[in-house]
Amino acid sequence: MSNLWHRIEEKKALDSALREEIEAAFGIRGKKALAAIDDGKVKKYLDFFVVEGRTAEYVVDEDFCTCRDFMYRGRTCWHLLAVRIAMGADLADQVDGWYQDRWNRPGGEPGSGKA
Ligand SMILES: [Zn+2]
Repeated sequence: MSNLWHRIEEKKALDSALREEIEAAFGIRGKKALAAIDDGKVKKYLDFFVVEGRTAEYVVDEDFCTCRDFMYRGRTCWHLLAVRIAMGADLADQVDGWYQDRWNRPGGEPGSGKA
């Protein structure tokens, strides 16, 4: 598995072989992670990574995610995977701003919706 991350970092891209390997290793979570990256839903703010789900945004910080799957089930959720893959392949959508600035606005709290 560590080998896979290595190769993603070396390639700085996701070719079909790597995609297949990610899906084989992580199943549906791998698929969702790849789809989010393809759709530009993995954003790199100055302070955090943010993954846009269907109804909410999730803040990912290293090995932590604000989604319910992670918080209540302690699983490696697809957001963490998406960020890890996007970081390795340099495919995150860079945002020139601080996510916390948005967070502090009313109604801007992340992870308050359903996944
Ligand atoms: Zn998550």
